Amino acid sequence: MTGSTPEPFTADDYRARMARAVRAAEDAGLAGILVAPGPDLVWLTGYTPAVTERLTLLVLAAGQDPVLVVPALEAPDVAHAAGAPALTLRDWTDGKDPYAATAALLDATGRFAVSDNAWALHLLALQRALPRSSYVSLTEGLPMLRAVKDAAELARLAAAGAAADATYEEIRKVPFGGRRESDVAGDLADLLRRFGHSQVDFTIVASGPNGANPHHEAGDRVIEHGDMVVLDFGGLVHGYGSDTSRTVHVGEPDAEQRRVHDIVREAQEAGFRAVRPGAACQDVDRAARAVITGAGYGEYFIHRTGHGIGVTTHEPPYMIEGEERPLVPGMCFSVEPGVYLPGRFGVRIEDIVTVTEDGGRRLNNTTRELVIVD
Ligand code: ZN
Ligand code: ZN
Ligand code: ZN
Repeated sequence: MTGSTPEPFTADDYRARMARAVRAAEDAGLAGILVAPGPDLVWLTGYTPAVTERLTLLVLAAGQDPVLVVPALEAPDVAHAAGAPALTLRDWTDGKDPYAATAALLDATGRFAVSDNAWALHLLALQRALPRSSYVSLTEGLPMLRAVKDAAELARLAAAGAAADATYEEIRKVPFGGRRESDVAGDLADLLRRFGHSQVDFTIVASGPNGANPHHEAGDRVIEHGDMVVLDFGGLVHGYGSDTSRTVHVGEPDAEQRRVHDIVREAQEAGFRAVRPGAACQDVDRAARAVITGAGYGEYFIHRTGHGIGVTTHEPPYMIEGEERPLVPGMCFSVEPGVYLPGRFGVRIEDIVTVTEDGGRRLNNTTRELVIVD
């Protein structure tokens, strides 16, 4: 277990987040925000209901208190959420029309941001109830709503990073050669939990040629002496995400394996150095990519350089060409360049970085040198 349990978020914390969301919606010309169960609802209220065909929907709109439309049989559960005191409940019983009840709360001709993971079932029914309303996904309408983290969120992300780092320090010591990728992945999951993760989201162990596939998870392949092995793992600690990658080698690497690893390490460093307030997200991608392209491997760096992290492990802001929005202190995202040589091997190095007042700070701090494992 890494670190101590943080102070839980309070109803006032959630009240402030919901007020901020309403202001952001107004600034964006939206009539309000509709939030289905999922990470946005957790972030705004602390409430984590089961996702079902029964409508649960948070309605945020200017000039009205936050309303949670909730199935009557689940209404007692809401009280357990820390944000409950900040919510007005509008419960509905089976057989009643929850969409008509929700429509009564909304500007009939308004444009609303809807959380990305709302079910089509619910949104289509709402559209039928309010034919003159219109909708945009929350990520499209308010992409940066959750992007800037406050001190309490940063502390949680730092704790998650430290727990992932502790996992790497231990996984380096386990045997790799002769074991299946899935065995090492199991070790990773055990370690993530041992160091404080309540949820393991991914344990990528991509050995030899499997490393050339950036999202290869872990399979039956037996890891061999001479393999590069991409490790990429993370999950949630106190509700906030970890995500780090290191590439290790089983036994002594050859000259090209070393060279590619050096290039990716330099690219990761260049991406990190590009992090400062006011720089564009795409500048981070450009800085990392320039190193890899300059070394002749540009066509083998086949993904964006990074993604935001918070109550999920993939969210805005994205470090990608074309994303011109500026970095702001408190943003947290990955810097994870890679090189993927089809049929041969891959290398990826990933840290979570947060934007400070004058640069960036890494939340992952294990060595980025090529580590030799057994
Ligand atoms: Zn990914
Ligand atoms: Zn990752
Ligand atoms: Zn990542």
